[in-house]
Amino acid sequence: MNLKDTIVTIPNFPKEGIMFRDITTLLENGEAFKQTIEELASFAEEMGATVIVGPEARGFLFGAPVAAKLGLGFVPVRKPGKLPRAQITEEYSLEYGTNTLCIHEDALKKGDKVLIIDDLLATGGTALAAAHLCEKTGAKVVGLAFVIDLVDLKGKEVLKDYPVKTLIEFE
Ligand code: IMP
Repeated sequence: MNLKDTIVTIPNFPKEGIMFRDITTLLENGEAFKQTIEELASFAEEMGATVIVGPEARGFLFGAPVAAKLGLGFVPVRKPGKLPRAQITEEYSLEYGTNTLCIHEDALKKGDKVLIIDDLLATGGTALAAAHLCEKTGAKVVGLAFVIDLVDLKGKEVLKDYPVKTLIEFE
């Protein structure tokens, strides 16, 4: 099926001028959700991933099912104050201010081949920070996969050093 048909666009959410691409309507459609997980899992196999990493929160919705389908571990990347044990952090710039991502310091190790999965690629800032965070542990990032690519924001250029897979494109 055409996955793009299952995405609903909400103008001016959460702010004036933003066209919000809503993935909850894809998740509600069993056939579309299954196909999405299968396509992401094929890319993970193609890249030889040994572990899946998903950024909070929508990266969990797609990353965890792919990991379970392939019998791989899933490692969450979280916002500050959520992880209970020793962690590594990565700060990155936003249009206004900065954000920080965190990962348990023992969740990945040297030799791990990481595929990062998130719902949507916009500027690529979050994904690049997640990749650098994984690399700080000594793991290798073998690719990044997203359900949606907002192509005008050119996130793929920011991620040019990595193989990138996206399933749906919006101008
Ligand atoms: P980036 O760091 O600019 O690439 O932003 C990517 C992050 O912003 C992802 O984790 C998305 O969840 C979120 N995001 C940005 N725009 C949208 C949207 O239109 N729909 C859903 N999530 C969005």
